Amino acid sequence: MNTQNSQIDLIRSPYDGAVVGEMPIANENDIEAAIIAAQRGFETMRRLPRFVRADILQRASEILRTRRDEVVRVISSEAGKPLFDARGEVSRAIFNLSNAASEARRIAGEEVPLDMDAGIFEYQTTGAGGARIDLSQADAEQLQAASRRIGIARRFPIGPILAIAPFNFPLNLVLHKVAPALAVGNSVVLKPAPQTPLTSLLLADILREAGLPEGALTVVHCPVPLAEKMVRDERFEMVTFTGSAKVGWHIKAIAGRKRVALELGGNAAVLVCKDADLDLAATRCVRGGVVYGGQYCIGVQRILVEQEVHDDFLARLLDRVAACRVGNPGEEGVDVGPVIDEGSAKRIQSWVDQAQAMGATVLAGGTRDRAVVQPTVLGNTRAGMTIEDEEVFGPVLTVNPFSKFSEAVTRANATRYGLQGGLFTNDLRQAFRALEDWDVGGLMVNDVPIYRIDNMPFGGWKESGLGREGTRYAMHEMSEIKHLVINYN
Ligand code: NAD
Repeated sequence: MNTQNSQIDLIRSPYDGAVVGEMPIANENDIEAAIIAAQRGFETMRRLPRFVRADILQRASEILRTRRDEVVRVISSEAGKPLFDARGEVSRAIFNLSNAASEARRIAGEEVPLDMDAGIFEYQTTGAGGARIDLSQADAEQLQAASRRIGIARRFPIGPILAIAPFNFPLNLVLHKVAPALAVGNSVVLKPAPQTPLTSLLLADILREAGLPEGALTVVHCPVPLAEKMVRDERFEMVTFTGSAKVGWHIKAIAGRKRVALELGGNAAVLVCKDADLDLAATRCVRGGVVYGGQYCIGVQRILVEQEVHDDFLARLLDRVAACRVGNPGEEGVDVGPVIDEGSAKRIQSWVDQAQAMGATVLAGGTRDRAVVQPTVLGNTRAGMTIEDEEVFGPVLTVNPFSKFSEAVTRANATRYGLQGGLFTNDLRQAFRALEDWDVGGLMVNDVPIYRIDNMPFGGWKESGLGREGTRYAMHEMSEIKHLVINYN
């Protein structure tokens, strides 16, 4: 990006407000230059053999491994992410890049059979003037001759892609878009979240060092009106967005004829049945709902526990919540740092207060200090409370009992979201019934919804999204089929 005359943004730690870096703010000219660069970058990328694209991605994975500590520090400081989680994110990104390299080598089309139906076969092979093959009379040789047509469906890159990312995984969520786009031969203009642009710059630097051609990836840190201008710009063939449902569906409405992929929010539920391993369930629920301030789109929010084991589970959960270390995310061993800003902390607190005023019980936490929200557990919550109906994106868990499994699934489904769900049981029948009835993009049995490996198909039902990520699935969304038919008779 040409940033010579740009203004500078100071990027601050969400924990203590300290300046952790500077980022040039892209203006209208920078945006225009980025789009033109992406058009040129696409012309280069689409002509590269698979092995070149794969080698670039593989080299980037290796460079990231060697620069791991530097990237961990940047993620932790600008996103306020505990070191353990920042390290986990970089490990995932290293895999994400190398998996995209493998998929770049593997992605292929298929032969399409063209001789499946006698009537159509006869009609489509009829000569001019009505000369036709009478299939009932044709001998084997005539039939073979008439079927000498082959159909080949091949995937091609589509063009410049606009990628818009959220703050909570500034490296790996960006890679969920950038890696598959490059693997199929597209170019990308990336607009990172305003709070976490420094990680994107590091990633661009790593990819450049790995040999990515000029214009294949441009990072623009720009205000929302310029981001919207890009969303409307017909020179992009696709916009791939991860962020809140409100912004995502707005983007879909203004994107024109281009493709749109949306990875949005959720208020995930976990069901804990009476036969479950309660220690495992409690440990994983705290990991998936409280750590990193609960800022996962697939974070645990609503826990429903079978009546018979409710009190036992709750006691185990509260023990683990009490053991969480809350504080400076840059210190080793801290589990819960700040949420992304004080405004978010105030919003979370207000939802907890509203629930309490409507009859919920605060079983742990319930307070905040600037942007740090204490891990909070609420009981006696119900539909109608914002904390139940909306995405909290904070370290707050609700725990309620259920008596019938089918009612628990109905309650888990009673939301406009449907990203992933968790179910703790050893009864396979319940697992498969939940899969049939629960409208989510992924169901984790004996685990929590934050479980995600980057080659998995991932995406939402209902208002949680449109399309699927996961390297190979995203590559399909970011490519288009051309079908070749050859008559070789
Ligand atoms: P957000 O929607 O506020 O912002 C996301 C991005 O969109 C940012 O880069 C922002 O600057 C940009 N943006 C905002 N308004 C825009 C507009 N009108 N036009 C174009 N771009 C615009 O989300 P956030 O606060 O950064 O992230 C938290 C949200 O992201 C949560 O809802 C979370 O569930 C969701 N999320 C989803 C996934 C997933 O994979 N499904 C993963 C992580 C986060």
